[in-house]
Amino acid sequence: MIDNNISAMCKPAPGEAGKTGDWRDMRPVIDHTKCTPYVKNKPACFLCWLYCPEGVIRDTIPVEIDLDYCKGCGICAEECPMGAIAMVAEGKQDG
Ligand code: SF4
Ligand code: SF4
Repeated sequence: MIDNNISAMCKPAPGEAGKTGDWRDMRPVIDHTKCTPYVKNKPACFLCWLYCPEGVIRDTIPVEIDLDYCKGCGICAEECPMGAIAMVAEGKQDG
């Protein structure tokens, strides 16, 4: 069988205890008005996609995060050069 996947990234899937986003106590919220691909309407940056250790960020316009599997580590927010991602406590309103 030929494997055309040239990246080392994997895709999220349910663990024994279910969807792993259930562990999260902080969630990332994207302000798309600060996010380069959205602002420029071009496939650019995507550092959050590159650095997310869970592979739950999609390199789309706009950028999307699969919260079913995001563990809330905050790496995406740390790496975003535009400060477009805020970590918000679960149970609070976005922003
Ligand atoms: S908080 Fe962590 S797991 Fe969730 S999208 Fe950001 S980098 Fe990925
Ligand atoms: S790192 Fe920040 S600016 Fe770059 S694509 Fe992700 S959210 Fe947008």
